[in-house]
Amino acid sequence: MFVFGHAGLTVAATHAVDRDVDSRWAAVLALGPDLLDKPVSRLFPALVHHNTRGFGHTFLFSLIVLAALLLAKRRLKPALLLWGCYAGHFLCDSMWRGDNPAILFWPLLGDFPPPVRGPIISWLTLGNVLGEAAGATILYRLARRHGLFERPRLAAFLKSGRLA
Ligand SMILES: [Zn+2]
Repeated sequence: MFVFGHAGLTVAATHAVDRDVDSRWAAVLALGPDLLDKPVSRLFPALVHHNTRGFGHTFLFSLIVLAALLLAKRRLKPALLLWGCYAGHFLCDSMWRGDNPAILFWPLLGDFPPPVRGPIISWLTLGNVLGEAAGATILYRLARRHGLFERPRLAAFLKSGRLA
């Protein structure tokens, strides 16, 4: 799971679209597919053929997330923006590559494929390291710009989720 890459890019993008977005939820939803699938792959590996990408990485489950957001927010724009955080995870995970479409469009293209094992060092690993560095840099700059290293402003952010 690439915490900083997913969260940093998503929080920055949503903040650019809507200054009032709840960045706490943007970050959680950006990590949502992994927060669901990593434990499932450990607890019930046979259910997802030992793949660390499963139900949470499907378009079908993202529609369930959208329905929950529409019920919770009761307004289309904030619900769609936060859903974009969840669906944006699929972009960061390159869900169009390799066997990933079988996961994204499960169950239409068959069952979950087994995970792909490859060399530890690859261009993908390098891309992940760069993505993590970029995400961490973005989060640091947002926190610094919005004064989150000052206790009162951090407390206000944690309470409201807004980067004021
Ligand atoms: Zn993922």
